[in-house]
Amino acid sequence: MSKAPLLVVSGPSGVGKSTVVREVLTLLPNAWLSVSATTRAPRDGEVDAHDYFFVSDSQFDALIESGGLLEWATYAGNRYGTPLAPVNEHRINGQPVILEIEVQGARQVRLSAPDAILAFIQPPSWEVLEERLRGRGTEAPDSLDRRLEIAASEMAAAAEFDAVVTNATVRSCAEDLIALVAGPEFSG
Ligand code: ADP
Ligand code: 5GP
Repeated sequence: MSKAPLLVVSGPSGVGKSTVVREVLTLLPNAWLSVSATTRAPRDGEVDAHDYFFVSDSQFDALIESGGLLEWATYAGNRYGTPLAPVNEHRINGQPVILEIEVQGARQVRLSAPDAILAFIQPPSWEVLEERLRGRGTEAPDSLDRRLEIAASEMAAAAEFDAVVTNATVRSCAEDLIALVAGPEFSG
């Protein structure tokens, strides 16, 4: 029996990945969003095991060594990775799985799960990306500059993806993502 789809959602920080994926989960309640492990410190309001598994460097090392991660990458000085087992379990149960990850991780998924569908979210313009990232108000000035620097190189990777979707409005972007994965058997 074939597994449910694996959708990788990538794109520069601040483009609206989390916001759009939340909308996808509302429109496609059967889908399951993977919870990543990270060595980054929690932001105000972030909850362990819900937003991320917040782990120490040595815990992250152990995850890598045990083969527990589908992919992982270093981003802006912290490590992030996708726990492998729950991705497989949910797909086998018939639930489309969504990974919200940066570009290096998406490349690894392409190699280790060739049936994955890779979507890149781009902003309507560079100015809008800057406004969104600043407007979110979560980053100190040095982290903001670093994220914009990484964003410039991430934007150059868009052509490697199966689909490039512009986040002009949250709803239309979510619908574009759903169209990539959802046959009638996966809606609702
Ligand atoms: P990411 O997960 O890619 O880092 P977020 O989902 O945190 O990005 O979005 C960054 C900011 O942009 C948030 O303040 C969010 O509310 C806003 N945003 C996201 N999508 C849109 C949109 N289509 N139009 C306007 N603002 C948006
Ligand atoms: P943030 O610190 O803003 O939560 O995330 C920073 C970047 O790491 C974002 O581009 C986010 O999509 C990405 N990210 C989150 N989880 C993972 C993961 O498990 N693997 C990879 N490769 N990137 C991730």
